[in-house]
Amino acid sequence: MSPTKSVILVTGGTGLVGKAIEWVIHNESDKKYGKREGEEWIFLSSKEGDLTDPAQTKAIFEKYKPTHVIHLAAKVGGLFGNMAANLDYFRDNLLINDHILHNSKEFGVKKVVSCLSTCIFPDKTTYPIDETMVHNGPPHDSNYGYSHSKRMVDVMNRAYHDQFGCNFTSVIPTNVFGPHDNFHLVNSHVIPGLIHKCYLAQQNGTPFVMAGTGRPLRQFIYSRDLAKLFIWTLREYQEITPLILSVPEEEEVSIKQVGDSIVKAMGFTGDYSFDTTKADGQYKKTASNKKLMALNPDFKFTPFDVALTETVQWFKENVDHIRK
Ligand code: NDP
Repeated sequence: MSPTKSVILVTGGTGLVGKAIEWVIHNESDKKYGKREGEEWIFLSSKEGDLTDPAQTKAIFEKYKPTHVIHLAAKVGGLFGNMAANLDYFRDNLLINDHILHNSKEFGVKKVVSCLSTCIFPDKTTYPIDETMVHNGPPHDSNYGYSHSKRMVDVMNRAYHDQFGCNFTSVIPTNVFGPHDNFHLVNSHVIPGLIHKCYLAQQNGTPFVMAGTGRPLRQFIYSRDLAKLFIWTLREYQEITPLILSVPEEEEVSIKQVGDSIVKAMGFTGDYSFDTTKADGQYKKTASNKKLMALNPDFKFTPFDVALTETVQWFKENVDHIRK
């Protein structure tokens, strides 16, 4: 990015990832990731405009005149929400992404980094997954609407570059967790849902029971680590093709390790067990972070237990007024 004034617009600025970027911008002293002189950061919420609406999206670009965009806003939901409304997830996200990229081109935005997700990869694949495999086969059936809309961002990025020379790219994070997550007991991702469940077990003196065997493996990235990598991508990543943002393959953790860490961080001393009559999800979905580490070899991920303890602490301090 140039040393002259930059206006960086973060769509979805009130969500899990947006709040983490805001935190890093205000708290990180290392200028590789923290705020630099001449930068103005704008964190958007949906209250400022519905990005599925073309006029409201254009008005946001007219108001802020961004030079750079980190595009996070999306209709995001759990398994059942997606299964019940694949068309809504497809259309809303297609509209949001089209409006953001179209206006970015019209207003001469120098760079856009959009957010994809590892769930967009083909359902039937070899492991580890890497960036070249995005379009290799159909995504999982449960959320094909969401997945296809996200895949189209990569198609649009390529076409905007080929036709107009735009510098629009994307990143692919693995499972994210951290402060400001959605801690709903059902409609949430695994870590925030389990934190809430363990908290209630502690409050009510009831057992903490995890569904399944606890054996499946996942790569979790702390939202504040992801935030640093988003900022680094905006400043340094030079390709149009996507970049996976993930911890290394060897830092995959089992769901049992997640449960153990939550119990420890919560200080839960009650009965803790696994209901093995409940189905496990896919055993593993390992993604490769080799491309990232070749480009940013010094990056240090926060140890899982430290990140989880910070998240549990944040949950306990904010439990009365958070998404749950
Ligand atoms: P959240 O659900 O926490 O936040 C979503 C954000 O999008 C909110 O700021 C919300 O605004 C905004 N938003 C949603 N719909 C609209 C709309 N129609 N107009 C304007 N703003 C809208 O999401 P995350 O932070 O978890 O996700 C950010 C990105 O990361 C998404 O693109 C998601 O697909 C991707 N991702 C997330 C992963 C995860 O594990 N969480 C994993 C991989 C990718 P408001 O708060 O005002 O409603």
